[in-house]
Amino acid sequence: MLKQLDEIQEQALAALEAVPDLAELEAWRIKHQGKKSTLNQILRDVGKLPREERPAVGKRGNEVKVALEAAYEAKKQALERGELAELLEKDRIDVTLPGRPAPLGRIHISTKTLREIYAIFAQMGFQVYTARDVELDLYNFELLNMPPGHPARDMWDTFYTTREDVVLRTHTSPGQIHAMREYCPEPIRVILPGKCYRYEQVTARSEFMFYQVEGLAVGKRITMTDLKGVMAEFARQMFGADRRMRFRASYFPFTEPSVEVDMDCIICSGEGCRVCKYTGWLEIAGAGMVHPIVLQNGGYDPAVYSGFAFGMGPERIAMLKHDIDDIRYFFSNDLRFLGQF
Ligand SMILES: [Zn+2]
Repeated sequence: MLKQLDEIQEQALAALEAVPDLAELEAWRIKHQGKKSTLNQILRDVGKLPREERPAVGKRGNEVKVALEAAYEAKKQALERGELAELLEKDRIDVTLPGRPAPLGRIHISTKTLREIYAIFAQMGFQVYTARDVELDLYNFELLNMPPGHPARDMWDTFYTTREDVVLRTHTSPGQIHAMREYCPEPIRVILPGKCYRYEQVTARSEFMFYQVEGLAVGKRITMTDLKGVMAEFARQMFGADRRMRFRASYFPFTEPSVEVDMDCIICSGEGCRVCKYTGWLEIAGAGMVHPIVLQNGGYDPAVYSGFAFGMGPERIAMLKHDIDDIRYFFSNDLRFLGQF
């Protein structure tokens, strides 16, 4: 019996030596260490042996068992190390391959122009105030002195929603009411940037979606002179120190009096050219003194408070500054255009 145990150990170790991979190793384990292995059968049957043989066979059997377990563990670790090394070799990164260039994004020209506008007005003490894109008819028209049926509503072609009183804002002016109602009776100096929407034919001059920057100042003793000073300062910082300004009488329902703000043409300095349509002047904003009814709707007493407001299009500002002749370039996502700024 002891001799048989020696043979089992010898054969098993020899077979283990020849095992090439982890799959074969598992097969070896089942054959030599499993429940049905010869070794385990002998160990199970020790009790059936004559009493005097039992201690020697039991001792030797356990020795063989421990030896096989140790050999199995050693072999398993060696094979695993080998497979790992092979894997590392196979997945090695070739650091000499040339890299793939990652394209770098840019800030959109509209955003860039908006940031320039924020910076200029920030110097003059204007904070940015944001309002919602989807508005109630009440804020977009009624509180801005355009009750239902008012002819001035025809100045804007409006996107209506399935709810009769909800529209996509046609201008940033409803933000004036929100700002006034939030800050009343404190003085206000804010700019209101944002997207506006109009149900219009898309042409080189008009888009159905565009940005607008509205400005609003409300306080005591604010006059038209303050408006003119702010507009001139803006034009000079944006377009150059020697810009001249011109104000033309105009009409907006929410300002009284209302003006169009022109500056001398940056291309021809007033001589007349294609960009200024040979007038020498470029329109950069609409503006005026806040209408008493609008002040009242915002919560301010028009007998005590006054204010001015203006509105401009950053795309139009960028078109003038960079001599762009078609507004459709801004939102058609053509990288040849966007990459230039
Ligand atoms: Zn010109």
